[in-house]
This record gives sequence, C-alpha cells and structure tokens, in this order.
Amino acid sequence: MVATDATTPDPRMVPVTDDLDTGPYFAGARDHRLIVQRCNSCDAVLHLPRAYCHHCASWDTRWAEVSGRASLYTWTAVTHQVHAAYPVPYTVVVVKLDDVDANLIGSLPGTPDLEVGQDMEVWFDEVGDTVIPNWRPAATS
Ligand SMILES: [Zn+2]
Repeated sequence: MVATDATTPDPRMVPVTDDLDTGPYFAGARDHRLIVQRCNSCDAVLHLPRAYCHHCASWDTRWAEVSGRASLYTWTAVTHQVHAAYPVPYTVVVVKLDDVDANLIGSLPGTPDLEVGQDMEVWFDEVGDTVIPNWRPAATS
C-alpha cells in the first residue's frame, strides 16, 4: 500500500471499472463483496468475466458472491522495479478460491514466507475511488 494524503493522489494504476464485462466485479468490490460471474445455463464460473459462456455458448449469466477464502496456488517475487508506484520487493500471488473453480491474483509487500495451499483471505484495497480485491494470508484464530 502506498501512503497518500488528501492532497497527493494514489499513484498506483487502476483497472477500468465501467467495462460491461468486468464492471460488476469492481462494483461488488466497492461494497466489499467478492463476486464471480456464473453461467445460468451450465453454472460454470466465468473468470475472467465475459458476456458469453465458453463452456456451453450461453449468453445468460449472473453474478454470485463467494466467501473470500482461498488457498495459495503459486507466487513469484518481483525484485526488478518497473513502476515508481510499486516499490520492490513485492510478491505476486495466485490463489484458488475455496467456493468455486477460479483463480485470482493479488500481491503482498516484501517477500513473505509462503507455502503452497496455505489459507488466504480477500481484503479490499482502496486506490483512490477504485476498490480492488487483493489477497493476504488468512488470520489464524
Ligand atoms: Zn454455460
């Protein structure tokens, strides 16, 4: 997370959040809800979100909330600075959602000790007016 104040805008890049296919994902994030797109015909999870089900050719989809729990699938440490707003090192993580068959990405500061399969949880990173689902090791309690 980059420290900002009221006079300094957050320098991090943000995704397009008003896209017809992905907009609802970010609208859910604004409400601190993790949602995924599903096909109403075959119930497949459509991630990345899209208008059309690539499993059964249906155009009938819906958004469904998931728990925000996942397991760590893989990760990589980034040590080469490519953008001033993203100080290195940081770790890009890929998590596998517990509820449905979908993988999402996130990042952690530094190079924490991680283990394949460890429990992860979503948190909602506010970047200016944009809210981005991100992942961290789950609290152990
Ligand atoms: Zn389908």
